[in-house]
Amino acid sequence: MIRFDIRERDGCARAGILAIDGTRVPFPAVIDPATVFPSLVSRGGTNVPLSAPPAFVSTYLATGEGPPVIIHPALANPAESGDVVMAANWHTTLANPRQYVRWLKDLKGKTPADTLWYAPAAALPSSVHILCYSGFDLFDSTAVDLKSAQGLFCMPEGEFPADDARESGMCSCEGCRNGDLGLHNRLALIHEVALARYFIGQASLRELVEARCRMNANHVAIMRHLDADYAWSEVYAPVARTGVMRANAGESMQRAEVRRFAERLLSRYRPPRATVAVLLPCSAKKPYSLSQSHRRFRQAIAGRAHELVITSPLGLVPRELECVYPAMHYDVPVTGFWDAEECAYISGIVARYFALHRYERVIAHLEGGALRVAEMAAAACGIALEYSCRERPAGDAALAHLDRALAGERRLRDDRLHGMLSCQFGCDVETRGILQRGHFPELFYSRDNRQLFSIDTGTGLLRPTFEGWDLLPQGYRVTIADFVPEGDVLVPGVLDADPSIRDGDEVLVVGPRVIATGRAAMSSQEMKSSRRGVAVRVRKIKKLAG
Ligand SMILES: [Zn+2]
Repeated sequence: MIRFDIRERDGCARAGILAIDGTRVPFPAVIDPATVFPSLVSRGGTNVPLSAPPAFVSTYLATGEGPPVIIHPALANPAESGDVVMAANWHTTLANPRQYVRWLKDLKGKTPADTLWYAPAAALPSSVHILCYSGFDLFDSTAVDLKSAQGLFCMPEGEFPADDARESGMCSCEGCRNGDLGLHNRLALIHEVALARYFIGQASLRELVEARCRMNANHVAIMRHLDADYAWSEVYAPVARTGVMRANAGESMQRAEVRRFAERLLSRYRPPRATVAVLLPCSAKKPYSLSQSHRRFRQAIAGRAHELVITSPLGLVPRELECVYPAMHYDVPVTGFWDAEECAYISGIVARYFALHRYERVIAHLEGGALRVAEMAAAACGIALEYSCRERPAGDAALAHLDRALAGERRLRDDRLHGMLSCQFGCDVETRGILQRGHFPELFYSRDNRQLFSIDTGTGLLRPTFEGWDLLPQGYRVTIADFVPEGDVLVPGVLDADPSIRDGDEVLVVGPRVIATGRAAMSSQEMKSSRRGVAVRVRKIKKLAG
């Protein structure tokens, strides 16, 4: 009897606890298929090539009595919620990234989300990262045992002739100490799966994939093909994380959370009514406002212009969105040099922003690559820039120049809340009369002494109270059946969920008997295609009268 509990999600990847006849092991895991799936040994017809045509598959593939339930691209979904499913021959697709991604999307699309995925004979220490990233949870040691038979030494960096590797001293595991290649290879796989599990728990598997994939062109290609389908990967991407987002690779610009920030900036965000915009450089310290340079910029600007930060890889960060994930979380290598691809991508975002939102004056208070990006954007959308400096923007001369350039301009109302609400919930809320208190970035918003919102300083998300939700007329609702939840809301209780809900979003639970505030533990898509698990982690619950 196999049971499992998905506890963590990181994009497509998951981590949790697997119970086999009462023995509990964390997954992703390396399992012994003979113990976990005893019937699999004697079942025929479970191993049909992934590329086999439908007629062949329906004749020869025996999906059989699980576990595991056999899934195949040419087959309608035979799996149910709670099943362990198996995609045989999955390792063969690693050599064909385009096909890999096509089949993965097909299989993920038709299989319930709360299934555990087994890739038999597929995992090597060098491929675990991308298999976990693709949503596989269970592996076995068949592939590493084959490498042992071939005299190959497995490492996360690849497979090497064992004779060379043994003498190099690059591993000191029990297998290597005893000259046992087979044991080394099995341990290397177990260690790499444990590492992937740790990164999933930290919600930073993407960073591990960006690092590991460099040794194999096919792995890079799979990551890029997945990124290229933004609409598909965005649904899996959590709305926020608490840790650092390391944007150290060229591909970081393409990851779903980075693209989502730009998409929401251009589709949801509503800027304040301002006649002047000042373009500023980013700072290493986040949120920007806490950095020395930004304190000086803010002092010089003194509220007389809308502040917009030009930065890689996010593009453009209006001052009000500096806490919104990943603006407060990203870390990039700072070289002062912006490559052509970066410039083209970021100037594209800036140009689209200025095409949507017209200012009478746009002042570039920038230098280097950021200045070049601003000039490219201005040329693309036909606006004229004014310059308050061309070097050392935080220097006294530049700041004095900026102050003079803003002489006579009117002060804007500081309305961080309005901008954040528009970006997070997609609505235009009347914020007049709402007071801000607290010590930045730990801010609270209230009206008539009733708290409406607070900023979660870990994720940068706004947390609405019940009174706060009253100001948000629609969206981000999870409708539940006629019951009073005890603790969290579980999937079976969910009747409907707003399609825009992603893992980590603040939501309002609405039922005939209660309303509750909380955080979505999965996307609305997953709530609808699962039968088990926590849908919403409830913060506060209110029983309705009558
Ligand atoms: Zn070793």
